[in-house]
Amino acid sequence: MNGFSADLKQVCGCNWAVVGSSADEVTSKTKVHAKETHHMDEVPAEIAAKLHDAMRPTM
Ligand SMILES: [Zn+2]
Repeated sequence: MNGFSADLKQVCGCNWAVVGSSADEVTSKTKVHAKETHHMDEVPAEIAAKLHDAMRPTM
């Protein structure tokens, strides 16, 4: 199944990779992680840009 993943080590320094079936799913899972783990009610633009760079298609 094709999907997307993002290594959070490049995004917020966490040793965890977010995987999802779409880029939107990875983005929304990262938002939940940012809120629960980093207490970010909104994802800062800097983190969103790093997430965009870290996002990779998976085969
Ligand atoms: Zn994190």
